[in-house]
Amino acid sequence: MSLTAGVVGVQGNVSEHTNAIERACAARGTSVTVHEIRSSGVVPDCDLLAMPGGESTTISRLIHREGIAPEIVDHVEAGKPLLATCAGLIVAAADAHDDRVDTLNLIDVQVERNAFGRQKESFEAPLEFDGLDEPFPAVFIRAPVIDDVGRADVLATWDGRPVAVRDGPVIATSFHPELTADDRIHELAFFDE
Ligand code: GLN
Repeated sequence: MSLTAGVVGVQGNVSEHTNAIERACAARGTSVTVHEIRSSGVVPDCDLLAMPGGESTTISRLIHREGIAPEIVDHVEAGKPLLATCAGLIVAAADAHDDRVDTLNLIDVQVERNAFGRQKESFEAPLEFDGLDEPFPAVFIRAPVIDDVGRADVLATWDGRPVAVRDGPVIATSFHPELTADDRIHELAFFDE
């Protein structure tokens, strides 16, 4: 089997996701071609997508300007997997309480930007994660808090707050699985049937 993957590549931790997807596919014995997406017309060819951490206001502005945003929505509506991390979670949410982020409403959660960041800029924590046997080394950087969960399932919490959710074909995390050498969340997002 050969897969086509896309990493929304307008801004943020793009190459880190590309590398993680390549490693996760190699671990499954699956060949993959990864496209870094900066313009429209590529997402429709992708079997799976990642939306990276970075700056959600910038990512939101550029995916709308380039016509990538409706293609991501179509991808998820077709039931194809998306992993959205940190700023990607913010863009994928139903509401980010910030006029500069035109959210895609792909996951039924509301988020508050930089909410963990106010307490502490960044930190790493061993996280119990639904579907993983051992804790995941989660890197949080100016992370958003998920403050309202609708139909989404909570996969992990930190300090009593949800930090990872699944809603249909989308897994979204407040932290950055792409910044560690641990690819279990990529594998879960893309290969867990
Ligand atoms: N604070 C960033 C934002 O609001 C997200 C941080 C990140 O992706 N590391 O977009």
